[in-house]
Amino acid sequence: MNVSHMLTNRVQSMAESATLKMSAKARELKSKYDDVISLSLGEPDFDTPDHIKAFASEALTNGYTKYTPVSGLLEYRKAIQTKFKRDNGLEYDMDEIIVSNGAKQSISNICQAIIQEGDEVIIFTPYWVSYSDIVGLAGGVVIPVKAGIEQDFKVSPAQLKKAITPRTKAILFSSPCNPTGSVFTKQELEDLAAVISEHQNILVISDEIYEYINFGDKHYSIGAIESLKGRVATVNGMAKGFAMTGWRLGYMGGPSWLVSACTKLQGQVTSGANAFGQKAAAEALLADIGPTLKMKEAFAIRRELVINLFNDIPGIKCNNPQGAFYVFPDVSSYFGKSDGHITIDNSEDFCEALLESTHVALVPGIAFGDDNCFRLSYAASEENLINAIGRIKEFLSKFK
Ligand code: PMP
Ligand code: GLU
Repeated sequence: MNVSHMLTNRVQSMAESATLKMSAKARELKSKYDDVISLSLGEPDFDTPDHIKAFASEALTNGYTKYTPVSGLLEYRKAIQTKFKRDNGLEYDMDEIIVSNGAKQSISNICQAIIQEGDEVIIFTPYWVSYSDIVGLAGGVVIPVKAGIEQDFKVSPAQLKKAITPRTKAILFSSPCNPTGSVFTKQELEDLAAVISEHQNILVISDEIYEYINFGDKHYSIGAIESLKGRVATVNGMAKGFAMTGWRLGYMGGPSWLVSACTKLQGQVTSGANAFGQKAAAEALLADIGPTLKMKEAFAIRRELVINLFNDIPGIKCNNPQGAFYVFPDVSSYFGKSDGHITIDNSEDFCEALLESTHVALVPGIAFGDDNCFRLSYAASEENLINAIGRIKEFLSKFK
């Protein structure tokens, strides 16, 4: 069979998820060597808190085992409504909330619902790895608007203004940001909103999945800005803040026309998310978030550790992230240098050579739209972080 004839162009032109690829590679190496340290996957290293597991067991016992409404269990959507109001000052009606199989699916559904072939989607860059392929798969044209380390990886209103054209359909970003950890302040979001509100037909897709892992000011949602009312899709989920990555539960609050379009899509493609997980998630959102705060504190301590260790490596510029659990250091001062065998010319060269010679797995910045950098997830033990960054330092010291 002629495989390239069988596979569609849209799938052939899609990249494999670099984060998942790198973590699979590290897993494979782990079966051969016992010193592999993978800092490639964005996944809390904590287990789901016990009380949430207990909610799920109870839900199973109580018969939460059937198909659910496509847009989500009523009690979970009510809990999400309460959470949006309590934490974000967002007032969504019930027909403005939809549950999904993860924030990734919410973003994909939104893109499938609104993007026509050739529509432009502005993506703040560095961006989370899947954004560009999700937009491409929907037929959209990615317009990356890039902010480097010198501006804390945060796009300015002037940059945004310049990128908007009559073909702009949406603006997509995460804050706290994966991969940089940068967090937009309330004022910065208001300044961006002032630019967006001049254009009536642009939807803002605000990915807030790292909301609870924020070390600075209180998290602020762009959807709470009055001038953008009805034009923001607020995406969130259980994966990061509650250490529930494998449960596959996300949600979105947004205009009812968008929620019904996503419901229609989901109804034909995946149906409603799993029943007992939603029941547990509903209770988790309303319960004490003490365990979440404890995880955040652990991440804050590791952040300090990682930044200090990187600041001790000559030629590495490390950002000071305010949220999430990533650093995105700039390694470009090593480009063009060689250890006598390999020359590092870009972020992929660096990550590949590092993995091969030290067994430390990171993700090349190019996957996030910035080839000068690499992403390290510090959702790992302090011992592994110290060990891994020690190996990175030694590795780089050989390049002249
Ligand atoms: N958005 C961002 C910024 C992410 O880092 C991730 C990774 N999990 C997702 C969305 C997807 O989340 P989920 O696991 O809920 O699909
Ligand atoms: N979002 C995480 C990451 O960036 C999980 C992997 C993925 O879904 O891409 O590593």
